[in-house]
Amino acid sequence: MASFKLLLLPGDGIGTEVMDEVSRLVDWANGTGVIKIETESDLVGGCAYDDHGEAISESAMALAHAAHAVMLGAVGGPKWDGVPYEKRPEAGLLRLRKDLELFANLRPAICYPALAEASSLKRELVEGLDIMIVRELTGGVYFGEPKEITDLGDGQKLAVDTQIYQTYEIERIAHVAFDLARKRGNLVHSAEKRNVMKTGVLWNEVVTQVHSENYADVNLEHILADNCAMQLVRAPKQFDVIVTDNLFGDVLSDEAAMATGSLGMLPSASLGAMDSEGRRPAMYEPVHGSAPDIAGHGKANPIATIASFAMCLRYSFDQGDLADKIESAIATVLEQGLRTGDIAQEGCKLVGTRQMGDAIVAAVQRSN
Ligand code: NAD
Repeated sequence: MASFKLLLLPGDGIGTEVMDEVSRLVDWANGTGVIKIETESDLVGGCAYDDHGEAISESAMALAHAAHAVMLGAVGGPKWDGVPYEKRPEAGLLRLRKDLELFANLRPAICYPALAEASSLKRELVEGLDIMIVRELTGGVYFGEPKEITDLGDGQKLAVDTQIYQTYEIERIAHVAFDLARKRGNLVHSAEKRNVMKTGVLWNEVVTQVHSENYADVNLEHILADNCAMQLVRAPKQFDVIVTDNLFGDVLSDEAAMATGSLGMLPSASLGAMDSEGRRPAMYEPVHGSAPDIAGHGKANPIATIASFAMCLRYSFDQGDLADKIESAIATVLEQGLRTGDIAQEGCKLVGTRQMGDAIVAAVQRSN
């Protein structure tokens, strides 16, 4: 039986509440007899700062390196607004991403039919939507140097950000996108601005080369990033996998997400490079934050975090069947009319975090 180590970092606020529900799904997965997942837990974010003065400890980092995957809840909250910048809760998250070299951010935008009315787009445009946005996470304009504001001395200032990409950075993210497409709808759209940006020209060239050398069986379309933004609201179902740089990915993934409804529904994965033994560092987390306004009330929607665990089963533990079962269970409870406050609808039953978890656990158990 395949055996894996999973590090749970619930973090702050609703992070702990939603992670409790993931633990119950880990127990279910272990009970299926097809996989053995050993979990350990540690602190990250504000709670880690309170405990030992850093947003993540060296021992927690060592556990993260040793684990096959990390599940993170959320970090932050007003309690830590005044802590020094380098010790703020988000520093724990950034250190994990940086030290594990998580360069590929996967953001699915899935619209469950039962929630199609919650989208700002028409039902027929979004019902059954299933897109994967693959965003380059560690390069591009957010990290390029120089990055500065210079005082020109004549009442004017000059601000510079540098958009910068090397071949290897584009190659490795392209591989992630094509590999994913093979397991999905076999179509990749590569979005850049080759008409006005040199990085766009290189992006286009490298993606084309990776495709022709390794993935001729996958369909590849090149699309200008601005047109991609337009097509996402005009006809989103034309997309399967979209691969793009850090800046465009930031914008396009939020845009696609909103087609699907609430923050409480959005999972994500961040992946690093595969080593010689076929192991890839990976971190799975909901897109939402620690929601201090509802923390401690048992109201948080656990679906984003549970769906992140489903991604972990699929991409880190190679258990697509178990992931499918969790995703079907989520669809089932939504069909049954159960809703947390963030996705509340008239005529539906309002439930809390634990009740939503109960219903999803019951639905996966029925699928055994
Ligand atoms: P947020 O995502 O925490 O909350 C935004 C709104 O959405 C709130 O009204 C909240 O109640 C609601 N919401 C979010 N997740 C929900 C869920 N699962 N169920 C029901 N409702 C949900 O964003 P924010 O309010 O801007 O930030 C709060 C704190 O979280 C800040 O300290 C911020 O820095 C931090 N944050 C952390 C992460 C992360 O850990 N990855 C991401 C974003 C924000």
